[in-house]
Amino acid sequence: MIIDNAAVDSVRLLANRGGLSVQLPAVEVSQSPESKFREYLTSRPKPQRYTDQQRDMVNFIFAQHNHFDAEQLIDDMKKAGFRVSRATVYRTLNKLVDAGLLRRLELGPRMFYEHDYGYPPHEHLVCQQCGQVIEFQDDAINSVIHDVCRQHNFQTNGHTFIVRGICTNCNRARVTKRRLDLV
Ligand SMILES: [Zn+2]
Ligand SMILES: [Zn+2]
Repeated sequence: MIIDNAAVDSVRLLANRGGLSVQLPAVEVSQSPESKFREYLTSRPKPQRYTDQQRDMVNFIFAQHNHFDAEQLIDDMKKAGFRVSRATVYRTLNKLVDAGLLRRLELGPRMFYEHDYGYPPHEHLVCQQCGQVIEFQDDAINSVIHDVCRQHNFQTNGHTFIVRGICTNCNRARVTKRRLDLV
Protein backbone atom coordinates (compact mmCIF):
# COMPACT_ATOMS: atom_id res chain seq x y z
CA MET A 1 0.00 0.00 0.00
CA ILE A 2 1.36 3.41 -0.94
CA ILE A 3 0.73 6.04 1.68
CA ASP A 4 0.68 9.49 0.14
CA ASN A 5 0.58 12.77 2.01
CA ALA A 6 -3.18 13.07 1.78
CA ALA A 7 -3.56 9.69 3.45
CA VAL A 8 -1.11 10.69 6.15
CA ASP A 9 -3.10 13.92 6.66
CA SER A 10 -6.26 11.89 7.12
CA VAL A 11 -4.68 9.84 9.89
CA ARG A 12 -6.03 10.85 13.25
CA LEU A 13 -4.41 9.79 16.44
CA LEU A 14 -6.67 8.40 19.04
CA ALA A 15 -5.04 7.52 22.31
CA ASN A 16 -6.98 4.59 23.64
CA ARG A 17 -6.03 4.83 27.28
CA GLY A 18 -6.69 8.15 28.85
CA GLY A 19 -5.00 10.37 26.27
CA LEU A 20 -6.32 13.07 24.02
CA SER A 21 -8.75 11.79 21.44
CA VAL A 22 -9.07 13.44 18.06
CA GLN A 23 -12.17 12.62 16.11
CA LEU A 24 -12.61 12.18 12.40
CA PRO A 25 -15.11 14.73 11.10
CA ALA A 26 -18.64 13.61 11.94
CA VAL A 27 -21.07 12.48 9.27
CA GLU A 28 -24.36 14.36 9.03
CA VAL A 29 -27.23 12.20 10.31
CA SER A 30 -30.95 12.91 10.37
CA GLN A 31 -31.66 11.66 13.90
CA SER A 32 -29.96 11.85 17.26
CA PRO A 33 -28.47 8.54 18.46
CA GLU A 34 -31.07 8.58 21.21
CA SER A 35 -34.06 8.85 18.90
CA LYS A 36 -32.61 6.25 16.53
CA PHE A 37 -32.26 3.85 19.44
CA ARG A 38 -35.79 4.53 20.69
CA GLU A 39 -37.09 3.85 17.22
CA TYR A 40 -35.19 0.55 17.17
CA LEU A 41 -36.67 -0.49 20.53
CA THR A 42 -40.25 0.26 19.53
CA SER A 43 -39.81 -1.48 16.15
CA ARG A 44 -38.89 -4.84 17.75
CA PRO A 45 -41.37 -7.69 17.26
CA LYS A 46 -41.91 -7.28 21.01
CA PRO A 47 -41.52 -3.52 21.58
CA GLN A 48 -39.11 -2.70 24.42
CA ARG A 49 -39.12 0.11 26.93
CA TYR A 50 -36.38 2.75 26.82
CA THR A 51 -35.01 2.76 30.36
CA ASP A 52 -33.18 5.50 32.29
CA GLN A 53 -30.04 3.37 32.40
CA GLN A 54 -30.14 2.95 28.64
CA ARG A 55 -30.59 6.70 28.18
CA ASP A 56 -27.59 7.40 30.42
CA MET A 57 -25.54 4.89 28.45
CA VAL A 58 -26.44 6.28 25.03
CA ASN A 59 -25.70 9.85 26.13
CA PHE A 60 -22.44 8.83 27.78
CA ILE A 61 -21.20 6.78 24.83
CA PHE A 62 -22.13 9.37 22.21
CA ALA A 63 -20.60 12.32 24.07
CA GLN A 64 -17.22 11.42 22.58
CA HIS A 65 -15.90 9.05 19.93
CA ASN A 66 -13.80 6.34 21.49
CA HIS A 67 -12.83 2.69 21.28
CA PHE A 68 -13.93 1.07 24.49
CA ASP A 69 -14.76 -2.31 25.96
CA ALA A 70 -17.68 -3.08 28.27
CA GLU A 71 -15.61 -3.14 31.47
CA GLN A 72 -13.99 0.20 30.66
CA LEU A 73 -17.41 1.72 29.98
CA ILE A 74 -18.74 0.42 33.31
CA ASP A 75 -15.72 1.89 35.16
CA ASP A 76 -15.95 5.25 33.37
CA MET A 77 -19.69 5.58 33.96
CA LYS A 78 -19.31 4.70 37.65
CA LYS A 79 -16.54 7.28 37.99
CA ALA A 80 -18.84 9.85 36.39
CA GLY A 81 -21.47 9.06 39.06
CA PHE A 82 -23.88 6.86 37.08
CA ARG A 83 -25.47 3.76 38.50
CA VAL A 84 -25.14 1.01 35.92
CA SER A 85 -25.59 -2.71 36.21
CA ARG A 86 -23.11 -4.91 34.42
CA ALA A 87 -25.87 -7.06 32.88
CA THR A 88 -27.67 -4.00 31.49
CA VAL A 89 -24.46 -2.66 29.97
CA TYR A 90 -23.70 -5.92 28.16
CA ARG A 91 -27.29 -6.31 26.97
CA THR A 92 -27.58 -2.70 25.83
CA LEU A 93 -24.26 -2.83 23.96
CA ASN A 94 -25.62 -5.76 21.92
CA LYS A 95 -28.78 -3.81 21.18
CA LEU A 96 -26.81 -0.71 20.16
CA VAL A 97 -24.84 -2.85 17.69
CA ASP A 98 -28.04 -4.41 16.40
CA ALA A 99 -29.60 -0.95 16.03
CA GLY A 100 -26.65 0.21 13.87
CA LEU A 101 -25.38 2.74 16.41
CA LEU A 102 -22.20 0.95 17.45
CA ARG A 103 -19.90 -1.48 15.76
CA ARG A 104 -17.79 -4.22 17.29
CA LEU A 105 -14.03 -4.29 16.88
CA GLU A 106 -11.74 -7.15 17.83
CA LEU A 107 -8.75 -5.07 18.86
CA GLY A 108 -7.39 -7.58 21.35
CA PRO A 109 -8.61 -10.44 23.48
CA ARG A 110 -11.66 -8.35 24.48
CA MET A 111 -14.41 -7.01 22.28
CA PHE A 112 -14.26 -3.27 21.70
CA TYR A 113 -16.99 -0.92 20.50
CA GLU A 114 -17.08 2.40 18.69
CA HIS A 115 -19.63 4.71 17.06
CA ASP A 116 -20.92 3.58 13.73
CA TYR A 117 -23.86 5.96 13.44
CA GLY A 118 -22.79 9.51 12.55
CA TYR A 119 -19.14 8.54 12.20
CA PRO A 120 -17.28 8.05 8.92
CA PRO A 121 -15.98 4.63 7.79
CA HIS A 122 -12.34 4.17 8.74
CA GLU A 123 -9.65 1.59 9.44
CA HIS A 124 -7.38 0.99 12.43
CA LEU A 125 -3.75 0.54 13.38
CA VAL A 126 -3.50 -0.98 16.86
CA CYS A 127 -0.36 -0.97 19.01
CA GLN A 128 -0.08 -4.33 20.76
CA GLN A 129 2.17 -2.83 23.41
CA CYS A 130 0.40 0.32 24.65
CA GLY A 131 -3.04 -0.20 23.14
CA GLN A 132 -2.99 3.02 21.14
CA VAL A 133 -5.49 3.03 18.29
CA ILE A 134 -4.80 5.10 15.18
CA GLU A 135 -7.72 5.71 12.83
CA PHE A 136 -7.17 6.30 9.14
CA GLN A 137 -9.16 6.57 5.95
CA ASP A 138 -7.82 5.37 2.62
CA ASP A 139 -9.69 5.31 -0.68
CA ALA A 140 -7.37 2.62 -2.07
CA ILE A 141 -8.57 0.06 0.50
CA ASN A 142 -12.21 0.87 -0.24
CA SER A 143 -11.71 0.53 -3.96
CA VAL A 144 -9.96 -2.87 -3.60
CA ILE A 145 -12.82 -4.14 -1.43
CA HIS A 146 -15.36 -2.76 -3.91
CA ASP A 147 -13.59 -4.52 -6.84
CA VAL A 148 -13.25 -7.85 -5.03
CA CYS A 149 -16.90 -7.81 -4.02
CA ARG A 150 -17.92 -7.06 -7.59
CA GLN A 151 -15.80 -9.96 -8.91
CA HIS A 152 -17.60 -12.30 -6.51
CA ASN A 153 -20.98 -10.67 -7.04
CA PHE A 154 -20.91 -10.18 -3.29
CA GLN A 155 -23.09 -7.65 -1.54
CA THR A 156 -21.11 -6.08 1.30
CA ASN A 157 -22.53 -4.86 4.59
CA GLY A 158 -19.27 -3.39 5.79
CA HIS A 159 -15.80 -4.56 6.70
CA THR A 160 -13.24 -4.47 9.49
CA PHE A 161 -9.61 -3.81 8.67
CA ILE A 162 -7.24 -3.89 11.63
CA VAL A 163 -3.45 -3.68 11.36
CA ARG A 164 -1.64 -4.93 14.49
CA GLY A 165 1.88 -3.92 15.41
CA ILE A 166 4.02 -1.55 17.43
CA CYS A 167 3.48 2.24 17.42
CA THR A 168 6.25 4.77 16.88
CA ASN A 169 6.59 5.63 20.59
CA CYS A 170 6.83 2.01 21.70
CA ASN A 171 9.23 1.29 18.86
CA ARG A 172 11.46 4.17 19.92
CA ALA A 173 11.40 2.92 23.51
CA ARG A 174 12.41 -0.56 22.35
CA VAL A 175 15.33 0.78 20.29
CA THR A 176 16.53 2.91 23.21
CA LYS A 177 16.33 -0.07 25.56
CA ARG A 178 18.27 -2.22 23.10
CA ARG A 179 20.97 0.48 22.89
CA LEU A 180 21.19 0.66 26.67
CA ASP A 181 21.45 -3.12 26.86
CA LEU A 182 24.44 -2.98 24.52
CA VAL A 183 26.36 -0.45 26.62
ZN1 LIG B 1 2.47 1.73 21.46
ZN1 LIG C 1 -12.25 3.73 15.08
